Amino acid sequence: MKASQYFISTLKEAPAEAELPSHKLMLRAGLIKRVASGLYTWMPMGLRVVRKVEAIVRDEMNQAGSIEVLMPAIQPAELWQESGRWEFYGKELLRLKDRHERDFCVGPTHEEVITDTVRREINSYKQLPKNFFQIQTKFRDEVRPRFGVMRAREFVMKDAYSFHADFASLKATYDVMYQAYCNVFDRLGLDYRPVAADTGSIGGTGSHEFQVLAASGEDVIAYSTGSDYAANIELAPTLRQQGERAAAAEALTKIHTPNTKTIQALVDLLNISIEKTVKSIVVEGEEEGSLVLLLLRGDHEFNDIKAEKLAGVKSPLVMATPAAIKDAFGANGGSLGPIGFKGKVYADYAVELLSDTVVGANEDDYHYTGFNFGRDAAEPEFVDLRNVIDGDASPDGQGVLKLVRGIEVGHVFQLRTKYSEAMNATFLDQNGKAQVMEMGCYGIGITRIVAAAIEQNNDERGIIWTAAMAPFQAVIVPMNYKKSDAVREAADALYAQLKAVGVDVLLDDRDERAGVLLNDSELLGIPHRIVIGDRGLKNGEVEYQARRDAESQAVAVDAVAAKVQ
Ligand code: ATP
Ligand code: MG
Ligand code: MG
Ligand code: MG
Repeated sequence: MKASQYFISTLKEAPAEAELPSHKLMLRAGLIKRVASGLYTWMPMGLRVVRKVEAIVRDEMNQAGSIEVLMPAIQPAELWQESGRWEFYGKELLRLKDRHERDFCVGPTHEEVITDTVRREINSYKQLPKNFFQIQTKFRDEVRPRFGVMRAREFVMKDAYSFHADFASLKATYDVMYQAYCNVFDRLGLDYRPVAADTGSIGGTGSHEFQVLAASGEDVIAYSTGSDYAANIELAPTLRQQGERAAAAEALTKIHTPNTKTIQALVDLLNISIEKTVKSIVVEGEEEGSLVLLLLRGDHEFNDIKAEKLAGVKSPLVMATPAAIKDAFGANGGSLGPIGFKGKVYADYAVELLSDTVVGANEDDYHYTGFNFGRDAAEPEFVDLRNVIDGDASPDGQGVLKLVRGIEVGHVFQLRTKYSEAMNATFLDQNGKAQVMEMGCYGIGITRIVAAAIEQNNDERGIIWTAAMAPFQAVIVPMNYKKSDAVREAADALYAQLKAVGVDVLLDDRDERAGVLLNDSELLGIPHRIVIGDRGLKNGEVEYQARRDAESQAVAVDAVAAKVQ
């Protein structure tokens, strides 16, 4: 590719809204352009990277026996009503009506659509198992889109769904998909960890996430120094990841929202010291439905908290992990469920602080909406989880826990019969008897991977791509391409030579100052750079530098192509 015929739109400074290195660099390198909150255009250079990730994922899916399909982005409400999710999915589901006033949604995921297709197409055990995948654009109206394409509203996902005659078959496919995911992330050259997504079951195989390790990750992973134990310590993981919205909704009737003025007020009220008790406070949202995660340590008595103390004070919602709840409240102290008021769900899950007392939440003035830190209360202190519970004993009794942050890039899940049962996806078994299919689902965030890879691989000069993801493998930077015949001839010859042997090479023939071309090549993170100038050519040499090298080296013109391959 010749840069003069391509489109490179780098920026000197990242726009102020970008916080994370990956977001800043993606904007500066011109990989993406923001259209609106959580909506981005993939520019040519960025799209090349997306396509590389897609190709690897597609190849591994094909090898794992998954069959490619492409489902519609817009889905009819009827299917979601059948599964029960029309009611329970909440505001992340973008709903719309067509000209006939029929309800639709923009698909955040495709369990319903694929289950509908499969129940029409598959009737016999002889047709099972089957595993379908697609690479497709999803929409989730995230409460807080941020970090660019890392948590976007529209994003590309690879989602796969498998259907089985029995659980053993599901488990076999799950293992194959798990291995395929490892292959994908190995090939992409990412530093990642598969972790149990359900902290409750040690070594449980029901659900795993693939987490790219990065200090800025939104998830916290606990792994053992003495065993393979690794888990996401995500709040209420069982409920959340199994999508047991129905169960959660049922729990809603039992839940009371604890209302205090601020976290500090709550902490004061509970008469506990914040250093001792707060493992982490995480603000997950800013608008209605804002969640505050408050992890409590089990070194205080909870029984003496009286309902009157909490009543009448407005507060953010208090949330905790199941383990922390048990820890803090004792075995019978708390339960998990959505927080709601008058039939409206404000937050998916929260802990019931006082199991047998009403704290006034379900009265008119006491429910909480529209809380803003900074405006309605002081910003909460963020406590690094690692400092607090690193070194705790591993739940499996082997070694101690280490906590690291991660970015969820993939998720595999044994759905069992959740959707097939609700939607009546059955088949006839060997005895001609109708049975409900077992199901698995498997997601990879294609576009999130691009951001996660940059988050993990960058320096002060820019992005550092692995060979597998780089938009171009090599860039030729001629000094004075326009004016120097010798440089132009050498650059064109090397460009032709590299192309002939299949190297994805960019010839940066733009009419720009040398400094601009050199800086851009580093910002864009292209693995190999060859600088061609008159001075070197006089000695038959060019300058070669790998992106990770501190310095360039002089290499004979006819030896440089070998460096790149
Ligand atoms: P998260 O916990 O980050 O919200 P999720 O658990 O809701 O993710 P899944 O439903 O498991 O996501 O979807 C499969 C994959 O899609 C995720 O592992 C992630 O890589 C990707 N993904 C999910 N939400 C987003 C988003 N808003 N922007 C970009 N990628 C996303
Ligand atoms: Mg999500
Ligand atoms: Mg998740
Ligand atoms: Mg997930």
